[in-house]
Amino acid sequence: MGRPSRKYGMLGRIICTSLLIMSNLNLSWGQELRVGFCHASDFVNIEYQTAIRKSINRFMGTLDPNFRNDIRFIECQEIPSSTFYGSPDAVYGREEAMAMMVEASYWSAGVLTIQSKRTLGSEVLLSSCCQLDWIDAYRLAKAKLYFHYDQLETLQNKVQSYLGFSNSEMDQLVKLVEEIHYTENDFWEGDKPHSDLFATAAPIYRVTIDNLVSFVIGHELFHFNDNSQMITTPSEMEESGLFNTFYSLQQYKRLLDPFIVNSDKNEINADKSGFRFLQLVDSNTRRKVSSSSLQTAIRKSTIDLLAFPVLSGFDLTMLSYDQPVETSYISGYLYPMIRMMMITAVLRSNERENEWAVKMCGNTSRAIVQLIQIYASAYEKSDGDVPDEVLELLPAGVTVGWETNYWDENSFSCQPN
Ligand SMILES: [Zn+2]
Repeated sequence: MGRPSRKYGMLGRIICTSLLIMSNLNLSWGQELRVGFCHASDFVNIEYQTAIRKSINRFMGTLDPNFRNDIRFIECQEIPSSTFYGSPDAVYGREEAMAMMVEASYWSAGVLTIQSKRTLGSEVLLSSCCQLDWIDAYRLAKAKLYFHYDQLETLQNKVQSYLGFSNSEMDQLVKLVEEIHYTENDFWEGDKPHSDLFATAAPIYRVTIDNLVSFVIGHELFHFNDNSQMITTPSEMEESGLFNTFYSLQQYKRLLDPFIVNSDKNEINADKSGFRFLQLVDSNTRRKVSSSSLQTAIRKSTIDLLAFPVLSGFDLTMLSYDQPVETSYISGYLYPMIRMMMITAVLRSNERENEWAVKMCGNTSRAIVQLIQIYASAYEKSDGDVPDEVLELLPAGVTVGWETNYWDENSFSCQPN
């Protein structure tokens, strides 16, 4: 979701030259989506391409099964400064980033599957005690992708400890992650040895990764479509007025300084495109996952798994194994915490049974609160007002924290209202 960059030229040229004939045929968005992914020359783990391809095909198929997708993978001639970028030629992206989202979604789906098999599974799924941390999912993914086995083991121990998994549950999780990876990338030879858990995990994984792809690629599709909307019907979040409520926080003399981010109209509209795709794709969750508490849990995971890309600008170099993630804004976009409020509100608008649970919780809410505090206190003209519509998307303890200036671990845990 970085800004367009001329450094992307090489990949752009390769794709554009070969697609010149297609554009002469006047193939427009209506017939074909073109996506080009490139990876760094030292990135050797290209095992994820089939899973990436499948997710994009599923995601576009949600919109119209007749769309053709031309998805290509090459080595980057030059590392682009932005992770994703859309233009009328194609949507471009870093393969490593897509692979990270895929692997992070395996872990997220694996954790939810094992939790759902426990007694009182639905309570565990919806309570905030036992979530896979928003950063740890990506740390696990990074350790797998780059073969950092020592880090992987340390992380697995850490995650096992706070999830409260037994050794056998942890073994099941690790096997399940491999099973999803093998299946999604067509690596099985002969019979597929699917475990019982796999039948639950596979649809959870697919809905999760498709949700991530729908926002990330959905944003770029606006640029690909010549900066115009493909889905012309506004999302429920826009129609309800919530979009304007959140956006107004970065207007003059409101909570946040508008001149720091200088939001560009095209980027705001591209985000609206992402929200519409996310709402559409997520609304199919019900057909794919039957348990309502699992549906809710997937929405919660989607929030956590989008928080790292949105809050960090998806800068892969910023993900350390033991340091907190540095969050940053990117000029031209909405403030990252406002984008997260909007994403959360979109997912919440699709939730029917457990609306209270679809929030930014745990370390995701901690990051959002810290960012609001940092940017609001740096803005002399800030009115300091965080409206109820924002507080509703955060744990109740955050409201208490802002009122009393008392914060502890419970401030960020989500509990039923
Ligand atoms: Zn954009």
